[in-house]
Amino acid sequence: MGAALEIRNLHASVEGQPILKGVNLTVKQGEVHALMGPNGSGKSTLANVLMGNPVYEITAGQVIFDGVDILDLETDERSRMGLFLAFQYPVAIPGVTLANFLRNALNARRKEADPKDKGIPIPAFRKLMIEKMDMLLMDHDFAGRYLNEGFSGGEKKRAEILQMAMLQPRIAIMDETDSGLDIDALRIVSEGVNKLSGPELGVLVITHYQRILNYIKPQFVHIMLEGQIVESGGPELALTLEEQGYDWLREQQNDASA
Ligand code: ADP
Ligand code: MG
Repeated sequence: MGAALEIRNLHASVEGQPILKGVNLTVKQGEVHALMGPNGSGKSTLANVLMGNPVYEITAGQVIFDGVDILDLETDERSRMGLFLAFQYPVAIPGVTLANFLRNALNARRKEADPKDKGIPIPAFRKLMIEKMDMLLMDHDFAGRYLNEGFSGGEKKRAEILQMAMLQPRIAIMDETDSGLDIDALRIVSEGVNKLSGPELGVLVITHYQRILNYIKPQFVHIMLEGQIVESGGPELALTLEEQGYDWLREQQNDASA
C-alpha cells in the first residue's frame, strides 16, 4: 500500500487575511495530479502550508501524510517522511555546492533512519549522483557549482529535479516548475519528472499554464479559485481551461452562491 497525502478542509491565513478557504485534495503515491488556477488563487500558499512555512497560519483542517497529521511537524521532519517541495523561486546558497548540499540532505535522512549511520561513503555518493545526473541529461560539472548561484531558470529547475531524484520522495509538490522556462528546458524538466514517476512517487504539479501538461500527463486535474478547489476532473479539464479560460468557473461559482 502506497502512502497518501490527504488535505482535509484546509483553511489558512496570512497576516490575518484568509487565503485558503477549505481545500480538499488527496494525492497518492503513483498518481500524478495537476493543480491549476489563476494568479493569486492560493496555489503557492497551499504548497507553502504543506511544507510548513511558518508565515501561514492554519485556521482549520488537517493534512494527513501516511496516516500522520503533519501540520505540527517541522519542515525537515516532513521532508524526512518523504514529502518534497520544488519551490517556485529556489533560493541560492552561496558557498555550498550542489553536491555538498545533496550529500548533507541524504546523510540527514540516513541518520534519521539509523542514528549510528556514519553517512554515505563519498564514492557511493558520487556514483549515485552521476547515475541520476545522467538520467536527467545533466552536465557533471553542475555538481561542483554553488547551489542556485548564477543558475539560469532552467538550471535551477534541473537542480531541483536532481534533488528529487536523489532524495526519492514519496510525494513531490512542484510549484510552477514551468515558470520562466524556455521550451527546451521545459521539455527536459518534464522528462525528468516523467522518468522519476512510477508507483513509488505521487506528484502534484502546480501551474497556471496548460503548457507543462503537454509534457507531464496528469491523471487528475483540479482547479483552484479564491482558495478553494472548485472543479476536479481528468486531463480533459486542462484542455477546457486552455480553450475557455477561468471565466466559466467563476460564473458557475457565482451562480452557486447566488
Ligand atoms: P498563486 O500561487 O495561486 O498565484 P498565492 O498563494 O501566491 O497564489 O497568493 C494568494 C494570495 O495570498 C494573494 O492575494 C497573495 O497576495 C497572498 N499572499 C500569499 N503569500 C503571502 C505572504 N507571504 N504575505 C502576504 N500575502 C500573501
Ligand atoms: Mg504561485
